[in-house]
Amino acid sequence: MAVGLHRNAQIVINKNAIFKNIKTEKDKLNADTSLFAVVKANAYGHGAIEVANVAKKAGADGFCVAILDEALELREAGISEPILVLGISRVEDVKIIVENNISVAVSSLKWLQEAEKLMKAECIKGSLQLHLALDTGMGRIGFQSVSELETVVSYIKQHSDLNVEGIFTHFSTADSKDSSYFDKQLNRFNEMKSFLLTNFNPKYVHVSNSATSLWHSECNGNMIRFGVAIYGLNPSGNDIDLPYPLNPALSLTSEIVHCKLVSKGYSIGYGATYTTKSDEWIGTVPIGYADGFSRKMQGFYVLIDGIKCKIVGRVCMDQFMVKLPYQVNTGTKVVIIGSSNNETITLFDIAQYCDTIHYEVSCNLSNRLPRFYV
Ligand code: PLP
Repeated sequence: MAVGLHRNAQIVINKNAIFKNIKTEKDKLNADTSLFAVVKANAYGHGAIEVANVAKKAGADGFCVAILDEALELREAGISEPILVLGISRVEDVKIIVENNISVAVSSLKWLQEAEKLMKAECIKGSLQLHLALDTGMGRIGFQSVSELETVVSYIKQHSDLNVEGIFTHFSTADSKDSSYFDKQLNRFNEMKSFLLTNFNPKYVHVSNSATSLWHSECNGNMIRFGVAIYGLNPSGNDIDLPYPLNPALSLTSEIVHCKLVSKGYSIGYGATYTTKSDEWIGTVPIGYADGFSRKMQGFYVLIDGIKCKIVGRVCMDQFMVKLPYQVNTGTKVVIIGSSNNETITLFDIAQYCDTIHYEVSCNLSNRLPRFYV
């Protein structure tokens, strides 16, 4: 994909914000608790390699990604810290996994048996570092009961090239005010954990995403998987107050590339969905849904000179139009995410308007938008 280095639109990532968010959390953790920075999906749209390098400086002990390629991208960039792939990796990639010293989540006996077969058939040297996923109520991946684990444990014990490096679960409601379902999951985890700890001595026991570590730190275990908070975002949106301030790291800005006076009764954009109510100054911003700026943003606003300017007409693939308070020069700065004078638009504001979550908004920002690090 072509990165738009010659366009009037950019994402700016504040490295210091990321550094502070990680350092503050790391300083709060017990000394024996590792912080793994979750940098999957290109670090939630912030840039995996750049974020990983800042995270290391801020004290991150390892990294979590979703797929093997994301782990390999970090290795190729010289990241030598532990990396855990949180999703289910393909068995046929077991050689790449071992050779690159990557740890993987495991969720079934069948996967282990097939991996073991390949290890033998391909004479793979070294051992497979496993994190046993425990499904305590998320219903996504993981072993679901002690009885299921019994056969898994006995299989692993018979194969010295399978090493249980970690056991973990994932909560589905850690960002909720009501902790009843969270408590149920925790009980199930504790039951399976007790059984596993009588059989293995894993280096890592981990349950915490950002929300869990922020609001339920007492059950952290000795490692956390710190994701969205790294980027300065409250995992709950605005449902639960943060225990300490987080610093949003991402801003998205552009420029007015065209400004014109349009007479009353003129239509703007595909489908002619907006018609000027009087003579209006209309500006064009060169960002569109191909950049991850959703069509649902019609009717929202951007900031120009600290003034909220409404997005009029449909968002096109590469451009959208705004109603201006007055004539502006081309080149006038447009803030889409970030601050202008006393006004701020957050990823969360955009998410709310689009009826989604801020995670999705930042992940969707496409690689066509260049990312600059300050
Ligand atoms: N752990 C697992 C298993 C995840 O799937 C995720 C994110 O989806 C995280 C940790 C990080 O979550 P968060 O970004 O909410 O901190």
